[in-house]
Amino acid sequence: MATGKQKLGEYPAKLRIKKGDTVQVIAGKDKGKTGKILRAFPKTNKVLVEGVNMIIKHQKARNTGRPGAMGAQQIEQGGRIEKPAPLYVPKVMLVCPNCGKPTRVQYEYREGDGKLSSRKFRVCHHVDCGKAID
Ligand SMILES: [Zn+2]
Repeated sequence: MATGKQKLGEYPAKLRIKKGDTVQVIAGKDKGKTGKILRAFPKTNKVLVEGVNMIIKHQKARNTGRPGAMGAQQIEQGGRIEKPAPLYVPKVMLVCPNCGKPTRVQYEYREGDGKLSSRKFRVCHHVDCGKAID
């Protein structure tokens, strides 16, 4: 397989997965977890996946205003906030919505929905499935 260097500033790295897709983590501490993609970052080749790669952010308690001015929301609670951090796309695999298995994404030209004679679809890699994903 050819892996040429990608020129910066040209096309962003091609993401085969996008927001709303369900993916399974295939490497790292969250291996085996599945979640929905909340955000995709094509430029950095990263995705933000719901409930995956959680990091704990410590937040200091702070007073955001004069006491009593706006009621009870004045003082923010200090504490630990858990939130997902983006992880690299190669660490996740798309879960096929048809067969429910993580799959390598392939592109194929198939008959479209009538508007076009054919368009590019993402296609499930499994031989017993092979269905278009979107
Ligand atoms: Zn499938």
